[in-house]
Order: sequence, then structure tokens, then C-alpha cells
Amino acid sequence: MAKIEEYIPLVGQAVIDDLMLLGERLKGKVIQHINSTPVGGGVAEILSRMVPLLRELGVDTKWDVIKGGEQFFGVTKKFHNALHGRPEEITQRDFEIFMQTSQENIANVNTYGDIVFVHDPQPIALIKKKADNKWIWRCHIDVSNPSKKAWDFLMDFIVHYDSAVFSAPDFSRKLPIRQFLISPSIDPLSDKNKELPQEKIDAVLKKYDIKKDKPIITQISRFDRLKDPVGVIEAYLQVKKYINCQLILAGGAADDDPEGFKVLKEVQEKAKNDPDIHILLLPQNDIEINALQRASDVIVQKSIKEGFGLTVSEALWKAKPVVASNVGGIPLQIKHKYSGLLCHSIEGASFAIKQLLSSPAYARKLGENGREHVKNNFLITRHLREYMLLFLSLHHAEDVVHLY
Ligand code: UDP
Repeated sequence: MAKIEEYIPLVGQAVIDDLMLLGERLKGKVIQHINSTPVGGGVAEILSRMVPLLRELGVDTKWDVIKGGEQFFGVTKKFHNALHGRPEEITQRDFEIFMQTSQENIANVNTYGDIVFVHDPQPIALIKKKADNKWIWRCHIDVSNPSKKAWDFLMDFIVHYDSAVFSAPDFSRKLPIRQFLISPSIDPLSDKNKELPQEKIDAVLKKYDIKKDKPIITQISRFDRLKDPVGVIEAYLQVKKYINCQLILAGGAADDDPEGFKVLKEVQEKAKNDPDIHILLLPQNDIEINALQRASDVIVQKSIKEGFGLTVSEALWKAKPVVASNVGGIPLQIKHKYSGLLCHSIEGASFAIKQLLSSPAYARKLGENGREHVKNNFLITRHLREYMLLFLSLHHAEDVVHLY
């Protein structure tokens, strides 16, 4: 696992010096992250790198995961969809199921942190302030247009937190507590994103019987309707009428997403007669995902709703041309026709993919710009700095934290 000094060639000595200074200022404080899954999805992806790096900077950081059964995660997935503005029937019984599991977690999860950092709605009910601790609610969802019923329910908990953090300016809500805008990030030195030798990339393609004889279009995502994998297949089929190409849909399940299996079946059904569609299940295989992203000619993220879309940063970091929906945090990452192409429909996606496949120099330029944009804005070093400043600010009434 990469040490903090290894980031110096990428981001410069001064950035790392600042992080070390911030780490010193946080000595003695325990930061406790709480979420609902140790693996799968963007939150776990970020925490798996954020926690060890904070520790390396001298910040005593813990990560606890709440427990829940199928019913509970069925309800929280409904909340997730409803908060993204999708129509969902949320019943009184759903609220009861949520509260019942939350009570069990309140009884079993010791909230000992000086700062308790709660991610997303699943563990939100844990809030129980002690005399001297601070609570942050970190919302990773695009809540710019939420179902009122779901949002009002969450508000009863949110108001008891000290602060809330959102990923993009559009997601902020009218709240009686302080709120911060902090975008997610990727770790450039993790297995998911580090440089790979060409032999490794070729070996992964060989393992999955994917030949390099025609351009590769790829979407990496959990099998979730909000990621629109069926729409990706439709866009690919439209491209294929003009350009012989192949499609990789790689995804796995997250413990807190019970819909994955059903969506996977729909995708398999849609793809069953086309040998050029490769559906791969690789939940915990960062190197292989890295290799597939690097082997691709175009990366797609055709989400219907998206919190941030780490997969877009991952692709751009690899200087890949990306076609992605203009939703959630994606337009923070893709400036249309500069660091990728934004789309609004299946037809738009297929048009953009065709354009990139037939203009390699243009595609390369977008990819290079995308890498630079991610380097300047979405690497974990920026994220660490903002989180540590946030932690310090919780103990300061004023907005300025004096470091020297
Ligand atoms: N991911 C993965 N395996 C999969 C599907 C996704 O490791 O089968 C990773 C992906 O590379 C990214 C994260 O999970 O790092 C997904 O984060 P994103 O923000 O794109 O979406 P989320 O799943 O949080 O909605």
C-alpha cells in the first residue's frame, strides 16, 4: 500500500507538507467513519484508501460498518432511489423496518469517536451526541431533487448533526446546520488506478477471452438500474451498425444493494445473442478493473442519476475518452468537448461513442485533458486536505482555522 511520500512526484512536496501539518494538528482526536458496507460502491472504495492514509498522517482513524438484513437494505435502497428523485413507494412499514434495524445498530455500534463521520442514509439514525463529540453527515447522493417523503424522514436526524457534507454545489439543501462542499476523489496509487504493464493488461483480456481485434467500449458499474446498463447495450448496438466494436459491462454487487442480481439477469437477457458483449462479474478485483479500463477505447458512464461517479475519474485518470450522462457529479469532471463528452440519451451516447471511435486524435486529446483535470481536482490528496480542515473547523466557531 502506497506511503504518503510516494505521492510527492505526483502532487509536489508542498501538498504533502500541508497534509503532515494538518495531521499533527489533529493528534489526539479519534475520527470514526461509519457506513453500511466494507466493499462495493464508491463509499467503500474511498474509505479503503482514506482510512489508511489518514492513519499514516498520524490521525487516529477508525472505520465501523453497521449491520442490516435483506429487508433493511431493501428499504435503504428505496430511500437511495427516492432521494435521487426516482418514484418509489415508501410505506409506513418501510420506516418501521428502518427504525428497527437502526435501534439494533444503536445498541451494538459504539460511537466512541471525537468526530463521528456517518456516510449516507443507512446509518443516519445513529446520531447521539455526547458532551464533547462532533457528528458529520456525509451525503454521497445527488439530493438536488429528492422525494419529499424520504427527505423529510431523514431531516429528523440530519438536524442533530453538527455539519453535513455534499459532493457538488447543486446537491446542497436548506439546512439549519453548517454544510460543506467536498468532492470525492480517487487514489492514483491504488491497485485500481496505478500504472500497469501492457503484459498485465493483455493477460486480463486473455483471461476473459476478449480479443483486441475491434474497439472496446466499457462501462464499469454495479448492476443497478440507475447506472442504465441496458441503455449502454442499446447505445452499443446503435454504434455497431456503423463500427464493428465490442462491449464490456463489468460490475459486481455491494452488500447494501439487494437489486443487483435482478438487474444482472435483465442485462444477461438483453445481451444473450451477442458474443461481442462481455458481461463480467469482478466485485473485488481492482487490478482487473484497472486493466479493463486501460484496455478500453472508450469508457461510458450512462447513469440516469449519479452521486459523483468515481468510475469517470478513474477512466479520465487513465487518459481515456469518456462518454457520460450529464447528471450528478459527472459534469464536475467532464467539461463537454474538453475533458470528455456529455450525453443526455441513448442516441446521444451512441453518437458520441461513434465520434470518438472515428476520431482517434480528438479522443486522445479529450483523454489527456481529462487526466489533467482529475490531477488538479480529484486526487485523494486534495480530499484528505479538505477532510482534515473540516475536522479542525468543527472545533472552531469561526470559519478560519489558523495553522501557524
Ligand atoms: N467498482 C468495482 N467493481 C465493480 C463495480 C464498481 O470495484 O464491479 C468500483 C468502481 O471502480 C468505483 C466504485 O466501485 O471505484 C463505484 O463508485 P461510483 O462512484 O462510480 O458509483 P457507486 O457504486 O458508488 O454508485
